[in-house]
Amino acid sequence: MDTEDRARLIRAGDRRTLARAITLVESARSDHRAEALALLDALRDPDRQALRIGLSGTPGVGKSTFIEAFGLMLTAQGLKVAVLAVDPSSARSGGSILGDKTRMERLSREPLAFIRPSPSQTQLGGVARRTREAVALCEAAGFDVVLIETVGVGQSETVVAELSDLFLLLLAPAGGDELQGVKRGIMEMADLILVNKADGDLKPAALRTVADYAGALQLLRRRPQDPPGFPKALPVSALAQDGLARAWEEMQLLVNWRKANGHWARTRATQAKHWFEEELRQGLLAALAKEPQKGLMARFGARVAEGEMTPEAAAAEMLRLLGRPA
Ligand code: GDP
Repeated sequence: MDTEDRARLIRAGDRRTLARAITLVESARSDHRAEALALLDALRDPDRQALRIGLSGTPGVGKSTFIEAFGLMLTAQGLKVAVLAVDPSSARSGGSILGDKTRMERLSREPLAFIRPSPSQTQLGGVARRTREAVALCEAAGFDVVLIETVGVGQSETVVAELSDLFLLLLAPAGGDELQGVKRGIMEMADLILVNKADGDLKPAALRTVADYAGALQLLRRRPQDPPGFPKALPVSALAQDGLARAWEEMQLLVNWRKANGHWARTRATQAKHWFEEELRQGLLAALAKEPQKGLMARFGARVAEGEMTPEAAAAEMLRLLGRPA
C-alpha cells in the first residue's frame, strides 16, 4: 500500500491501518523508517488535535483500572479514546505494560477505544520517538483523547510530560501521614494528582492524602498559565467509578483556560521544537556510533586514556575532524 492510501485510511479512522502504521514507526529497519517519515508527513494536520493526557503511577496504584473506567466514561459520551504506553525496558523485566491481555478488557472491546500494547526492550530515546509518532498517528486517525501511560520510574515521566497536554499523577492512599516519597520533579509536572482507591476502608486515608497533597501543591508553585486552584489533588475510585466525572471536568477546565490564554498552542510549539532538537541529538549520537566516527572516537579515547592528550584537546580535535569545531 502506498503512503497516500495509508494516510487516507488512517484519516478515515481505519484501525487496522492505524495499528500497522504504529508497527511501522516502531520498526528499526531503515526502509521502514523512510516509509514512516513519509506517512507522518502526509498526515501532518495541525487542525486535528487530540487531548493528550499523560498518566503516571507506580505498579499497583490502579492505572489500568483507572484507564478502563475513565476510558469507558469518555466513550459513553461518544468520544474516541486511544491508550498508549511508555515502557522503558528498565521499568519491567522484559514484560510490557499493556501486554497482559486481561488488562482493560472491557475498554478493549469498546468500538470507540483503541489500545496499543507497548513493545518491550526499547531504549528510552527510542521509546520517546515511537510513542510520539504513535500519538501523532492517533491524532490523525481522529481520536479525541489519547491517554499515554507510564509506570513511575522517573525519566519516563519527563518524556510523557513532553508528549502531553495534561499530566496526571495517580497515587494510592498513604498509610501514615507521610507524603509517599513522590519526587518533587514529578509533582511539579502534575496538573492533577488523583488519589485512587478512595472507597471502602481506604476512603478516610485517601481523603487525608488528598489534603496533604493539596497543601504541598499550593506550596510548590502556582503557574501563571493555570486558573486559580491548580494544580489540584482529588480523590477518585477507579473501582467504584467515583470522582471520574469531576476529574474530567477539572481537566476540561484547565484545557479550556490554556486554550483561551494561548498557553496550549505555545506549549505544543515548544514541545515540537524540543522533539526536533532531541531527534537531531539522537541522530548525531547515532552518527558517532558508526564508522568512521566510531573508530576515530576509539582512537582518541585510547590516547586520552594513555595520557597523551587531555580530554578537552581530544574532543576539540575530534570535532574539528568532523567539521564541527567547538
Ligand atoms: P496498575 O498496576 O497501576 O495498572 O494497577 P491495577 O489497575 O492493575 O490495580 C491494582 C490493584 O488495585 C487491583 O487489584 C485493583 O483491583 C485495585 N484497584 C484499582 N483501583 C482501585 C480502586 O479505586 N479502589 C480499590 N479499592 N482498589 C482498586
